[in-house]
Amino acid sequence: MAEKRGTVGGPVLTEWFGKAKLHTLDVYESLGGYSALRKVVTEMTAAQVIDEVKMSGLRGRGGADFPTATKWSFVPKDHPGPKYIVVNADESEPGSAKDRYLLENSPHMLIEGAAIATFAIGGHQAWIYIRGEYDLPYEMLRDAIAEAHTKGYLGDHPFGSDYPLDVRLYRGHGAYICGEETALLESLEGKRAQPRSRPPFPAVKGAWGLPTAVNNVETLATVPWIMRHGGPEYAKRGTEKAKGTRIVTVSGDVQKPGNYEIEIGVTYRHIIEELAGGARPGHKIKVFWPGGSSAKVLPGSMLDTSTDLDGLKALGTMGGSGGIIVMDDSHCVVKAAARLLRFYAHESCGKCTPCRVGSNWAVRTYERILANEGSETELGLLERVADGLQNGRCLCGLGDAAGWVIESTMRHFRGEYEEHCLRHTCSVGAVLAHA
Ligand code: SF4
Repeated sequence: MAEKRGTVGGPVLTEWFGKAKLHTLDVYESLGGYSALRKVVTEMTAAQVIDEVKMSGLRGRGGADFPTATKWSFVPKDHPGPKYIVVNADESEPGSAKDRYLLENSPHMLIEGAAIATFAIGGHQAWIYIRGEYDLPYEMLRDAIAEAHTKGYLGDHPFGSDYPLDVRLYRGHGAYICGEETALLESLEGKRAQPRSRPPFPAVKGAWGLPTAVNNVETLATVPWIMRHGGPEYAKRGTEKAKGTRIVTVSGDVQKPGNYEIEIGVTYRHIIEELAGGARPGHKIKVFWPGGSSAKVLPGSMLDTSTDLDGLKALGTMGGSGGIIVMDDSHCVVKAAARLLRFYAHESCGKCTPCRVGSNWAVRTYERILANEGSETELGLLERVADGLQNGRCLCGLGDAAGWVIESTMRHFRGEYEEHCLRHTCSVGAVLAHA
């Protein structure tokens, strides 16, 4: 995959990428790595760390877009027992590979960020829950954690302080639902990964029933830079309401798919056409998912949409996990939606009925449509199933995401659905055998 920076104000996360052996502690430290953690544990209070991150405006990069400092401040300060940072490294969203990119280049950046976050909530233990299929990132993190212990940067007296800090690694087992934070906590505890009802929220009752803040890899990997340069410096990047930079993964029908660090606020046209090289010769961008498969699609005519997260919300979609999936005019949107519904139905944990039943109804309906057995009935059925999956009717976001695929593709590409259901044709020749 191509790697190119699209940051106007200077890169943050990829600042040191390209340096030989950056994954080793010696090289990471020679560039300034671990200076933030050293300063935090020897000179700062937890409240000062939270204030600095608050000034940066950093928001969660896993999809929820929640202010990071606020999340940390929800963890009770007066809780007498253990409290945890849990790192969500279960990157499974179709179209997103930016956490893997970060981990394979600079595992110490996450370890340092996780340790700082642990200090900020008044805890002593961070857990990194890593996707089961991520063999290389797992091995690199494992070795990096061991290096940090050997050097005395983790352990009972990091940097000679009396504030114990530890980071431990836990390997997931390959289920998409483990990316949902409460299902992840269940899995971390050794149970079947199914989302919990909320409240109580993890900040109050998280891992093993103890206060826990769950943060995404990219979110925490940003924290050392913020502590080195100051929150206001980070806040100079981005837009008025959405600060900073983020890494996007561009995949699909572009000439240079890859991971790119962008300043929030640039347009999708900038990312897709300038950074990722645009569509293949002779083709046009037909549709794109602006934030992984769980984000509502936008048509190619909306490439000038800003990556400003509030702007995306106003359009009813989101930047999500930063995975930008691009399809050109050689693809059938109905077939693509059918394939995604198969994915969501397969990954549904089955705990709540609207998702368990609804996603499978949608799959069967799409199968009839792609077998040229669709009619007005199938169009109405898909609309009803989409409605049943959305708007809080399911226990977690997987159900919503399945509904959004149907609803947004039908909204923007109604003509293609009607072509399939009412005229039994497809302008790009999709057939069920290839769905
Ligand atoms: Fe499980 Fe789907 Fe319900 Fe989420 S929405 S709890 S994945 S059945």
